[in-house]
Amino acid sequence: MSALILDGKALAKTTEEELSVRVAKLKEKTGKTPILATILVGDDPASATYVKMKGNACARVGMESIRVHLPETTTTEELLAKIQELNENPDVHGILLQHPVPRQIDERAAFEAIDARKDVDGVTCLGFGRMAMGEKAYGCATPAGIMTILKSYNIPLSGKHAVVVGRSAILGKPMAMMLLNENCTVTICHSKTQNLPKIIGQADILVGAVGRPELIKTSWIKKGAVVIDAGYHPGGVGDIEKEGLAEVSSAYTPVPGGVGPMTINTLIRQSVESGEAFIG
Ligand code: NAP
Repeated sequence: MSALILDGKALAKTTEEELSVRVAKLKEKTGKTPILATILVGDDPASATYVKMKGNACARVGMESIRVHLPETTTTEELLAKIQELNENPDVHGILLQHPVPRQIDERAAFEAIDARKDVDGVTCLGFGRMAMGEKAYGCATPAGIMTILKSYNIPLSGKHAVVVGRSAILGKPMAMMLLNENCTVTICHSKTQNLPKIIGQADILVGAVGRPELIKTSWIKKGAVVIDAGYHPGGVGDIEKEGLAEVSSAYTPVPGGVGPMTINTLIRQSVESGEAFIG
């Protein structure tokens, strides 16, 4: 039997319809719409595309977005000052700082400068800590989007062995905590992990977040595993080998059309929630 395709694109479309209704209701009640401020520093074409896609998604649900574009030479201090300005702006309900920023900028300091109430991309330590403790917080957008996919498709999580390959602050680490909070037994792998194929072979749920095209081979994956590929590389290649994936897995996210659309969708949903909290 062929594997179930975990269709993030279709799921995002359905969720956007629900969000449009919520935004319209808020507008009717208060005369205001949620506003997301996006900050792009520099001229990286991929980052510019992501910011544009996020702005377009805001427009599709009837939200507004403010686009802040700072030069490549921006200093940490200048970026922090801009974030502070947005924190203090009562018309801004969510702030997205597009990752990565130019090398001279202290990215962690910039993320930490975002007011937790406006941290709709879930990038602050405070948000991570709250999420890890099971408290209310905006989840980091990519792993939270993956959790939405798993839950929407009723993938059983409790007691399952989840293997997360990658431990970045915006993906692997929060992913592992979210799966732990759903009672998975979690193994986190990284560049120093020994015998990666053997560990991957034990996964009931596998999340590839290594940032290396098709580093994870289908021959390593246990028959029937649920496979989530967070990677995205030019040409529509993920972090997990495509060839044979439909045969070995019981369910998998396609690349493109899996995790990517749900990352943006999570950002927009959390911006709507923030808008409701501020102006509702
Ligand atoms: P990242 O910051 O580069 O982190 C990559 C992680 O993979 C690191 O923890 C690294 O280990 C680990 N790693 C690297 N080589 C490895 C190897 N040979 N074996 C085992 N682990 C290895 O990347 P990221 O920002 O988390 O992104 C990961 C992937 O997700 C990328 O493909 C990116 O394009 C994609 N992504 C997609 C979205 C989306 O919306 N779809 C959003 C964000 C990211 P160390 O910690 O030891 O260095």
